[in-house]
Amino acid sequence: MSGGARILVVEDNPQSLELVEFLLEEAGFRIVSAANGDQAREILEDLVPDLVLMDMQLPGTDGLTLVGELRRRPELRDTPFVALTAHALRGDRERFLSGGCDGYIAKPIDVGTFVDVVRGHLSPAESEGPR
Ligand code: MN
Repeated sequence: MSGGARILVVEDNPQSLELVEFLLEEAGFRIVSAANGDQAREILEDLVPDLVLMDMQLPGTDGLTLVGELRRRPELRDTPFVALTAHALRGDRERFLSGGCDGYIAKPIDVGTFVDVVRGHLSPAESEGPR
């Protein structure tokens, strides 16, 4: 994929979304964003992303509930879901992973490792991108 993998970012915090978009676009990924579950559902009617980055603290349907719901869509069965969360409570990581997330990134985002962590959840062909 010459244009890089397509990543859906579901994040209601504008500053956090701006940072995530900046880092991923600079790394050659194509970003589509949603601020809540309804927007994400609508986007996913037309798009099968290569990866979904999901804020766990969303207005309306919370992130983990949304992951559980979207996971049941056959076309998203093999799509990695990576949780983004400001909460770092004991047991959260296990709760997110057992709830259908493939990985977990804590906020505030570590700009030195963020892209590599995302890349690590993509298949080798998808993570190739312009440098
Ligand atoms: Mn949030």
